[in-house]
Amino acid sequence: MTDCMFCKIERGEVPARIVYQDAELFAFDDLAPQAPTHILICPRRHFASLNEATTEDAATLGRMQLVGAQLAGERGIASGYRTVINNGRAAGQSVFHLHMHLLGGREFRWPPG
Ligand code: AMP
Repeated sequence: MTDCMFCKIERGEVPARIVYQDAELFAFDDLAPQAPTHILICPRRHFASLNEATTEDAATLGRMQLVGAQLAGERGIASGYRTVINNGRAAGQSVFHLHMHLLGGREFRWPPG
């Protein structure tokens, strides 16, 4: 997608601090971190949210979680972290290229806001 911010980051057209990438996924530090560790893990393939995902995306979606756990280990937050996908404006989604937040390094409350 030409005008998608995260597609532009994926193509290297917009700067970001890339912390992980492979053939399917890329991950970078959030511009406005909500915790000491706040990383966004994205599929390279553009789709807006889980609503557009198909069974062909199942492995990619699973790998997003596994990469989240790997990065949590590397960042020393494995004892407590969150992986979150906001789907739709009502859930707080503001960038419509599916991404999973990895948040850690502070105490979290439940239920989330
Ligand atoms: P969401 O509200 O779930 O769609 O999350 C979008 C996230 O993307 C927010 O946490 C923003 O701070 C973050 N964000 C938006 N633009 C950029 C950017 N250019 N680089 C890094 N993070 C960004």
